[in-house]
Amino acid sequence: MTRRAVRGRLVWFRDDPALAGEAALVDIPDGMVVIEGERIEAAGPAADLLEPGLEVTDYPNALILPGLIDAHIHYPQTRVIGSYGAQLLDWLQNYTFPAERRFADPDHCAAAARFFLDELLRHGTTTALAYASVHPGSVDALCTEAMGRNMRLITGKVMMDEGPEGLRDTAQSGYDDSKALIARWHGQGRIGYAITPRFAVTSSAAQLEAAGALLREHPDCWLQTHLAENHAEIAEVGRRFPESSSYTDVYDRFGLLGPRSIFGHCIHLAEAEVARLAATGSIACFCPTSNLFIGSGLFDLARLADRPDPVRIALATDVGGGTSYSMLQTAAEAYKVLQLQHRNWPALDAFHAMTRGNALALGLDHEIGTLEPGSVADLAVLDLAPTPAVAHRLEAIDRRDLPALLFALMIMGDDRAVRATWVAGQPLHERAGAA
Ligand SMILES: [Zn+2]
Repeated sequence: MTRRAVRGRLVWFRDDPALAGEAALVDIPDGMVVIEGERIEAAGPAADLLEPGLEVTDYPNALILPGLIDAHIHYPQTRVIGSYGAQLLDWLQNYTFPAERRFADPDHCAAAARFFLDELLRHGTTTALAYASVHPGSVDALCTEAMGRNMRLITGKVMMDEGPEGLRDTAQSGYDDSKALIARWHGQGRIGYAITPRFAVTSSAAQLEAAGALLREHPDCWLQTHLAENHAEIAEVGRRFPESSSYTDVYDRFGLLGPRSIFGHCIHLAEAEVARLAATGSIACFCPTSNLFIGSGLFDLARLADRPDPVRIALATDVGGGTSYSMLQTAAEAYKVLQLQHRNWPALDAFHAMTRGNALALGLDHEIGTLEPGSVADLAVLDLAPTPAVAHRLEAIDRRDLPALLFALMIMGDDRAVRATWVAGQPLHERAGAA
């Protein structure tokens, strides 16, 4: 196996800084990651790891982090991002559903998958939990492209038997197609499968029952759906499932809660719902740019996290409701959402969320979100002089003050701050014109 190395300032987390403070952080100013094949063989001070003949890629004036992880994103929505003036249900009708109908065409799927994965890599994101469309071919296209890049990607066919014309499956076909896709893709290379009922507005009881059956039959798959994003959505779910005590209870009744279940948004929840998410180890996914852009509301981190049994939290872009592929911009907007609730969010917590935190949420912390030896060499190299304005700001910060550097970088940074992205030991993106 080929051995090679990258050299620069290494930054990763061994623990949660919200619990362990700066002791959670590893910061090696002149560090090196030695890569053998796909995996990290060693990470530490360059002086200890340099050896004759080893090919070394240098990243001066940069931070080498684990690849960033996006825990909720829609790959069929790359052409509706930034569409004007609608809240959730109208947004779906006016923009999302027409865009997703085009995924009946395999050529369209393949082109969209290529664009989507290239865009993730340009933003330093090496793993995503991504919704496909209702069409099984949309999953085939995305998995084929991700396999070609050796990316750690989790996706699933959207199940929506009561969706609009042209985007409906049936409870039976949704089950059968998902089952076939799991057999075809789950565990192939680095691909994982997520059972993906869109939300309780577009799935019948029979389909949610089928999703629960799939999850029981494939307990190592993930489940992703949306929960309590918008008041009109919640009212509609109440009309559709009058026997349930809450939106969360709809999913709970069909066995969809659990430690591999990721629920997008979770903004408007009653106490009993928060308690059930916590008790089942379910993950609430904070999508700040989307929540602000679609006008859904402010994610109440304090309510979910500051309790004896905290709800597990993930952070995500939710493109195309979200307005940026950048996890840096996502963290910046998360910070502002929390500021509006008189709460700060330290940069160490934010960078933990984008890396080890999201890896923990996906149960992949042994593999990604870290630079520990044995993990896969998925890396994001962040530039400390990506634009004149950011360089100018960062020059005013003592280089030893990593939290201050990280904070300014997340507030001001975007794809231009990503100098390089490595996937499984290979450099798949190098920013043109970077020093
Ligand atoms: Zn979403």
